[in-house]
Amino acid sequence: MQYAKNLEEHAQVITRPHKRLAGEATLLGHNYVPWRQVGRWMCIRCGQCCREFLVPLLTHEALKIYKSFGPLIVQVDGKIALAKKPDSSCVFLSYDSGIAKCMIYFERPGVCRIYPFYVKLGASKDDDDALYVDNMGFKYRVYIDINCPGSYKGPPIEPIMPKIIETWKKFYGWWLLSRP
Ligand code: SF4
Ligand code: SF4
Repeated sequence: MQYAKNLEEHAQVITRPHKRLAGEATLLGHNYVPWRQVGRWMCIRCGQCCREFLVPLLTHEALKIYKSFGPLIVQVDGKIALAKKPDSSCVFLSYDSGIAKCMIYFERPGVCRIYPFYVKLGASKDDDDALYVDNMGFKYRVYIDINCPGSYKGPPIEPIMPKIIETWKKFYGWWLLSRP
């Protein structure tokens, strides 16, 4: 790992294709299943995702974190991500009586807001259980990582699906929102 030394250096690095990075990072080391097959989910705040996964950053997220918190950003194989502590957990992870807490919760990256869900635009004949159609008529395939200990627990997923899609659109599909 290598820390970005300054904003200029950082700005050069982060011109790489980050939409692809976000997708890759959520596909590696996970076990994604169509959301209808899992049915229920709740975050039990175990912190597993914050300990185990690299958190890829979009360009504006990297700049914001750099400006707000300093060089807590690393390059890993040419990708920009949040730095990790020596124990491999995210630099912003803390615990309160055993409950995981994000120290930048209201400013956390998009990938943290969407996990354990993974969203792809477009329908597929083979994946009806993953299909979701939003209020604008756009079709998505949505999966959930069943390695997340909150899978199969808590309330039904369906009522939170609009929020998941809105979050995904805000961070990764913003161009959809600009369509007439
Ligand atoms: S692994 Fe799942 S349950 Fe645990 S903190 Fe992350 S999202 Fe929440
Ligand atoms: S930014 Fe917050 S939510 Fe995201 S991995 Fe770090 S501690 Fe977890």
